[in-house]
Amino acid sequence: MKPPPFAYSAPGTVTDALALLAALGPDGKVLAGGQSLVPLLNMRLAAPAHLVDINGLEAELGAVEVTDAGVRVGALARHSAVEASAPAVGVLPLLRQALTQVAHPVIRNRGTVVGSLAHADPSAELPAVLCLVGGSVQVASAGSERIVAAADLFAGPMETCLRPGELIVSAWFPALPERTTTAFLEVTRRHGDYAVCGVAVAVTRDPDGAITGARAAYVSVSDTPLVLDLTDALVTGEAAGDRVFAAARLAAASVSPDDDIHATAGYRRHLAGVLTARALRAAS
Ligand code: FAD
Repeated sequence: MKPPPFAYSAPGTVTDALALLAALGPDGKVLAGGQSLVPLLNMRLAAPAHLVDINGLEAELGAVEVTDAGVRVGALARHSAVEASAPAVGVLPLLRQALTQVAHPVIRNRGTVVGSLAHADPSAELPAVLCLVGGSVQVASAGSERIVAAADLFAGPMETCLRPGELIVSAWFPALPERTTTAFLEVTRRHGDYAVCGVAVAVTRDPDGAITGARAAYVSVSDTPLVLDLTDALVTGEAAGDRVFAAARLAAASVSPDDDIHATAGYRRHLAGVLTARALRAAS
């Protein structure tokens, strides 16, 4: 299928892009890797009047900056660049654990981490990761800038709190506390598909190995990423095995999936429990 007609601009600087987006208001749409937007155009599920292509802004928006405090991912950093960044993955292994499950390598070569956050698909891995680590995005518009916490960014399926004229310039993934281990597991119908259900977990221990914190973020079981605190379930059970099952039962009881053509709500709920148990073991 072919997209509906649209005007197209490729500004040469972020300042020019912001001025154009401000002038266009709700008629303007940012084009990054195009791996979500172009299919939507071709299926005529979106019909923006004007695409603002930011792919020429690599010098300003392409960086992946890593410090001990976390990883800052520029709006034009591709999934594959973050996945291949040893410093980024060293600070936050969860990034690679999640990114290797996003689509296929050819899509990760083009799609951007920030584009995935802006797209806000409830089946996408990276919004759940951003929520689990308590990250944020840096949002710019002509003449102003704001930081939006992950918990406030996602408003519904494919819906964020971004306003017309705004551009996410980077995403901030803070490092997790010392002695935190992570895992990302999901079930897909075919390799590379969106997850029927997915879970990211982070487990923190004290120097003696006792669990002091455990959190999980779920994919494809709610309209926006669902974050659960599993600490109580994991520290109060009778024996280690029971505790993992207590956490899995809590997860299955807490998610609110819908039936759709891919899976029933009951199957997704079952997966939320099973994947929680497996991910907690994988992170141990
Ligand atoms: P685009 O498609 O260019 O844009 C997506 C949306 O974000 C648009 O609304 C755009 O206006 C907005 N946007 C982009 N950048 C910005 C910005 N800086 N500021 C404000 N708004 C912005 N994704 C997954 O998470 N998991 C999967 O398993 C998965 N499987 C896929 C399988 C296939 C076959 C395909 C084609 C895609 C799949 N994707 C999957 C989507 C892929 O990860 C996309 O790359 C990603 O979701 C969007 O990134 P993009 O750079 O391509 O954004």
